[in-house]
Amino acid sequence: MFCILRILGFLSFSLNGQLRVLFAYVCHVQESIQIVPSQLGNQLSFTLALPYGRASDTLPDAVIMVGPLTQYNMIAVARALKMITREVRALPAERVAIEDAVGRVLAEDIAADTDMPPFDRSQMDGYAVRAADTKDAPSVLKLIGESAAGRGWKGRLKAGEAVRIMTGAPLPAGADSVQKIELTQEADGNVNITEPTAKGRFIVPKGKEVKKGKVVLRRGERLTASNIAVPAAFGYAKVKVSKRPRVAILATGTEIVPIGKRPKPDQIRNSNSLMLDSLCQAAGAETVILPTVGDELSELTATISAAAKTADLVITTGGVSVGKYDLTKEAIGGLGAELFFEKVKLKPGKPTVFARLKRSFFFGLPGNPVSAAMTFHLFVRRALMLMQSASAVELPTGFAIMEGVAKGTRERDSYLPASLATDANGRLLAVPLRWHGSSDFIGFASAEALVRIPAGTSLTSGEVCEVLFL
Ligand code: AMP
Ligand code: MG
Repeated sequence: MFCILRILGFLSFSLNGQLRVLFAYVCHVQESIQIVPSQLGNQLSFTLALPYGRASDTLPDAVIMVGPLTQYNMIAVARALKMITREVRALPAERVAIEDAVGRVLAEDIAADTDMPPFDRSQMDGYAVRAADTKDAPSVLKLIGESAAGRGWKGRLKAGEAVRIMTGAPLPAGADSVQKIELTQEADGNVNITEPTAKGRFIVPKGKEVKKGKVVLRRGERLTASNIAVPAAFGYAKVKVSKRPRVAILATGTEIVPIGKRPKPDQIRNSNSLMLDSLCQAAGAETVILPTVGDELSELTATISAAAKTADLVITTGGVSVGKYDLTKEAIGGLGAELFFEKVKLKPGKPTVFARLKRSFFFGLPGNPVSAAMTFHLFVRRALMLMQSASAVELPTGFAIMEGVAKGTRERDSYLPASLATDANGRLLAVPLRWHGSSDFIGFASAEALVRIPAGTSLTSGEVCEVLFL
């Protein structure tokens, strides 16, 4: 294999003008360089076997990743999303007790097993009557029985008769209306209906809300606190749902210390793992937070490899950029990962890695907390939803009026954190947050939406903008 090397600390070369080395770090080049090509999915990877200066030198062999000559392998957000959709496979379904089903995605349609309501139901405490008997009210009717919720009256009501009835109780046969208790007086086995009532008044007819057999929730919908009553009402003691994706979360970086530890001057507390853990759980995943690893290749490789054995998805933060100690790509390369993308035309969140590691998937997110959150919302969330066969894989989107100015970048789509407000004309406003870029997780904390600014565009105040609701 013939290639031209340029050593600049980082190394780049081209093969037939088609391929470009993405990164490599070479320390001392003393003797001839042996190039060992190997395949990294649809990419080629070359290991340079280099004799290092000192025998004790622990630096690994330099790895050069070669890919098609796109703009430094930076792909459009839309293409990255397509790749995730193309690659990620749905997990199987399982039956769970309905008590454990909130947050899960339905793998079956939920159908009504009865009409709802199952009988003509009274909406009021009062008296079941024939409306015609109250036409010339006040009218005194003979009280012949009582219909309570769970203890309906079995007979048939005739002209001139009334049955005492409670909210939720079945309307007796023969009755066609209810008069509320406030407009009645009961005495001596009779009831005086003081005002006329109309046919159908204060009654919800059988099947009015739903007819037996109708699908009321569709597969792919997520069960929530708002809709869990639906399968419960139709007897689904167990529901078929997609399995929860098992996610392993790994913060990388020598500077990262646990939350409970006081950081030394050059250290940072690990806020990413907990944030991603919460985001993943909210997206339906089962999570485990792994102990942080430093920027050390063998430990990083071993930890990712072990995690990929049991997790459906491994997420790391940090170490995906082009610095000397950004080793994540090298680690997964060494594990034979199939790399789908490693840079996205996105701000913040450019250096984002998506790969397959045998039977699990891998996201290498940037270490900056805001970048990590952003790339979660755009990419990881989608993968988790696809695994659960959810019908909605994206954050809900819509439009708002921009309340402020924002300048996009030339080649990347920007997502700007914003809060939401309404004005006196009932318009939804997106108010950009005051924040200091992709490391400002405090500014980002109050974001309610992300304003999309397509590459090469900017937004002026009062313009309609596209928003993703968080
Ligand atoms: P990196 O992507 O490794 O270059 O990290 C970028 C920045 O994010 C650095 O300032 C890190 O200190 C910070 N960072 C990396 N990992 C974490 C983490 N787990 N929690 C909070 N900040 C982090
Ligand atoms: Mg780092």
